[in-house]
Amino acid sequence: MPRRSPEGEGGPPDSIALIYDGIRLIVRGMSTLESTPLVIIGAGAAGLMAACHAGERGVPALLLERKHRAGSKLLMCGNGRCNLSSCLQPDAMLADFGDPLDAFLRPAIRAFTPAQLQHWFEASGLPLMRTRDGKVFPRSERAADVVKCLSDVLRRFSMPICYNAPVESITAGATGFTVQTRTFRIEAERVLLATGGVSYPKTGSVGDGQRLARELGHRLQPYRPGLVGIDWSGSWLAAHQGQQFKSAHVRILDGDQCIGETTGLLECERWGLGGGAISNATRLISRLNARNPGVEITYAPMQAPLSIPALTMRPLKEAMVTVGGVDLRDISPATMASTVTPGLYFAGEVIDVDGPTGGYNLTAAFATARLAVSTIAKEGHYTPPATKARPQGRRGSKPDRRRRPAPRPDRRRRKSAR
Ligand SMILES: Cc1cc2nc3c(=O)[nH]c(=O)nc-3n(C[C@H](O)[C@H](O)[C@H](O)COP(=O)(O)OP(=O)(O)OC[C@H]3O[C@@H](n4cnc5c(N)ncnc54)[C@H](O)[C@@H]3O)c2cc1C
Repeated sequence: MPRRSPEGEGGPPDSIALIYDGIRLIVRGMSTLESTPLVIIGAGAAGLMAACHAGERGVPALLLERKHRAGSKLLMCGNGRCNLSSCLQPDAMLADFGDPLDAFLRPAIRAFTPAQLQHWFEASGLPLMRTRDGKVFPRSERAADVVKCLSDVLRRFSMPICYNAPVESITAGATGFTVQTRTFRIEAERVLLATGGVSYPKTGSVGDGQRLARELGHRLQPYRPGLVGIDWSGSWLAAHQGQQFKSAHVRILDGDQCIGETTGLLECERWGLGGGAISNATRLISRLNARNPGVEITYAPMQAPLSIPALTMRPLKEAMVTVGGVDLRDISPATMASTVTPGLYFAGEVIDVDGPTGGYNLTAAFATARLAVSTIAKEGHYTPPATKARPQGRRGSKPDRRRRPAPRPDRRRRKSAR
């Protein structure tokens, strides 16, 4: 629990004390005092879910985010529709992640299965829909509703978030950590790093978490693009630009050797080839460290395959997922705790974890976040709050507003009457 500052309840006279449930943060010029049981760094998919679960498990926590808002990458997911998860059974999903990720993610995904994930979101007020091919989206098909759902849960638990707070360093001490942001610092008994990968850096994931982990002694796997297009040009592409082929088959080659196959959508773009079949192929090329990657693409029956022997991927900043990051060998799969720095935990894409398209990456981010916080809750013997925090459907909880007919004109009248 937070310590009292030696200066007294309000802190030093020239300080601003921000008081939240269980946490007191005192900002004084560039410095800060006080401590919190848990600091979660990064308010993306993993950090938001971690903070929600901290609320559910009664773990006082502070969420720090470098951007001015939460979930910037989540908002882009699935072209703004957000493919949250999949209807696959946990073991089928794990098999698709492939070696060594299936073994690493097994405890997290078995503890928070795609079915439980769907149940959690629906119970938290986000109606979902499932497509014929087993993908799960919010029924509104709006990624913004996923961020809103997570934010609503945080509000229900009075979970504090501090925006515009890029963490610059973490120092491990005898009893915990000092987390230094650009403008203040806070002491934490435990830290959860959920800072994402390094693709789409404008969303805030710029590799800070990997740097912080390395400074604390963790090994990093080099970054490669995953789920990205292939640069290509030529007369075939010029003739087919703008076209899509729904059931393309891609043979992935390393030199002469076939190292994998994918099937799915092929999209002919101005700059080259994209679509699910290509994205999944590039992820495999990166994950398997192919030295001389190439592909053979059968885009339609009875057509000769397209051969791209020396392939160039689009840049990492355009990739949907980063292959590489904090080395799996330095994290316990059973707890998401660092095996190098006691008290440090990881969740989401900051870890060297990546999956194919189809909701795998968000499932992994949510599941690893929950496993980390469950571990922390057990270790700290925290008890969940009483009734306040229960998702709806129970007595005393708020009903889902979205299910009621929207009384827009009334609302406006009420607002203007205020
Ligand atoms: C275009 C696109 C579409 C995608 N679509 C899907 C999809 O439909 N389904 C799917 O499963 N996956 C999808 N993905 C992948 C998915 O978005 C990511 O795997 C997932 O968001 C990773 O979650 P995360 O919380 O680990 O990282 P992020 O969501 O990247 O969040 C990391 C957060 O940490 C913050 N941060 C970073 N450094 C610091 C710091 N020093 N201090 C404080 N905060 C910091 C960042 O600002 C950011 O908010 C898509 C990705 C992209 C780019």
